[in-house]
Amino acid sequence: MRDLLLRGVRLIDPFQGLDLPSCDLLLSGGTVVKVAPQIGAERGVVVIRKEGSVVVPAFLDLHCHLREPGQPWKERVANATAAAAAGGFGAICAMANLHPAVDTVPRLRQVLSKNRSLGRIPILQFAACTAGLQGQDPVELDELLRAGAVGLSDDGRNAMSGELLATMLARLDPHGVPLGVHPEDERVLAMANEWASGDPAAWMTRPPQAEETAVEDALEAARRTGSGNLHLQHLTTARSAELVRQAKAEGMPVTAEVTPHHLALDSFLDAPEPGALALTCNPPLRTRADRQALWEALLDGTIDAIASDHAPHEAATDPGQPTAAGFSGVQAALSVVLTLPGAMANLPRVVAALTTGPRAALRRSSAGVPGHGVVEGMAAHLTWIDPLARWTPDGDSWLSGGANTPFWHQELPGQVLATFSRGRTVFLNHVLDGSLEVD
Ligand SMILES: [Zn+2]
Repeated sequence: MRDLLLRGVRLIDPFQGLDLPSCDLLLSGGTVVKVAPQIGAERGVVVIRKEGSVVVPAFLDLHCHLREPGQPWKERVANATAAAAAGGFGAICAMANLHPAVDTVPRLRQVLSKNRSLGRIPILQFAACTAGLQGQDPVELDELLRAGAVGLSDDGRNAMSGELLATMLARLDPHGVPLGVHPEDERVLAMANEWASGDPAAWMTRPPQAEETAVEDALEAARRTGSGNLHLQHLTTARSAELVRQAKAEGMPVTAEVTPHHLALDSFLDAPEPGALALTCNPPLRTRADRQALWEALLDGTIDAIASDHAPHEAATDPGQPTAAGFSGVQAALSVVLTLPGAMANLPRVVAALTTGPRAALRRSSAGVPGHGVVEGMAAHLTWIDPLARWTPDGDSWLSGGANTPFWHQELPGQVLATFSRGRTVFLNHVLDGSLEVD
C-alpha cells in the first residue's frame, strides 16, 4: 500500500465517540500513522483532498448469504466480498443456509477454509442452530463454536419450537455468542398461504403477524431463560420495533437489525422503477408507517444495526416471472440508507449502526472480529466515503454476482472512495488518483 495523505476529511468514529469536522489522515504501510488538524506532506506520499468526504471505521455486515458451496452460479465468494468491500465493509458475517447447511464441524471447516482462501475481506461464519435448519435436532454447538463459528442462526427458516429455542438460548448463553432468529412464525405463514391459496402477493402470504408473533415468542423465550444472547434479524414492522423497545426498557440485552431496503422502500407500490416490481424479498417490504417506525427505532438505538441481508440471485429465465426472493444488497447498503430523509443529519448514528452496533450484536465473538476505531499506530481498518457524490448500480459499477436489486439503474447518493481492511487496500474507487493500487 502506497503512503496516502487524506486532507480535510471529516472523521466519524463511534468507537471513540469522535466527530471531527476536518482533519488530515496519514496512512503508511497499512497503518494509520497520524491523525491531526494538518499534516505536512513528505515526498512520495499521494495527497488527496475530496471536499465533503468522510473517514469512518470499516463497516461490518451482520447478515450476508454467500452461495458457495451449493449455488456458485448465483455468486462466487470472491464477487460477494469484492461487492462488500466496494460497499465500505471491512468484514461480513455469512449465514448458515448454504447447500449443504453449515450444521456440522466438518462442513464448517470446509466453508471457513474456502472463505479464507477466496474472500477479499474476512468472513465470519454463523453455524445453523438445528440440523438442516429443520428446527428439530440441535447442532453440536460447543464443537461448532470451538471450530470458529461466531454465532448460531437458522436464518431463512424459523422451524424451532419455542421450547427448543429457549433450550438453545440457555445452552448458548455461557458462551456469550449470539443466537440469530429469523422472526417469521412458520405456522402463521402456512395459514396465510392456505388462505391466500397460492396468491403470489408476498404481503398476503407473509403477513406482518407472522413476524410479530415470532418476535414475541423469541423475546418470551429469552425472558424465561434469562439468557442474554438473542439477536433478532431483519425487523420489518412498527410493532416489532416497539416490542424490542419495550424489552430493552425492561433491561433485556436483546439486539436487533434492520435492512436498508426495509428502511427505504414501501411494499411493492414504491418500487423505484417498473422492472423492480418483479423483485421480492423475505420478509416482504411493508408500509410507509412501518418503515418510518423502523427508522425512528434505528435512530433512538432500539435497533442496533443495519444489516444488508445480501441475497444474490441470477436473473429470472422468463422476464415476466419474479426471481427468487431477496436482494443483492451489500454494495449499496450505505447508499440506500442515505436516500432516507434526515440520514445526512444523522450520519454518526448511521455509521454506528454499521460499525459498533453490529459488533455489539456479536457479543463475545466480537473479540476475534476485525474492526476498531481510526487510531494512530493501528492497522488501517477504515472506509473513506463521499456521502454526497452519486453513483449508479449498473454493469460497470456492480461487483456482486447478482443484479437483483430494486435500485438497478437508479442514481444513489454515497460513493465509497476506498476501503481498507486490516491494513490492506481492498477497494479503490475508479474516480481516485490512478497512482493508488488495490493490495
Ligand atoms: Zn432471514
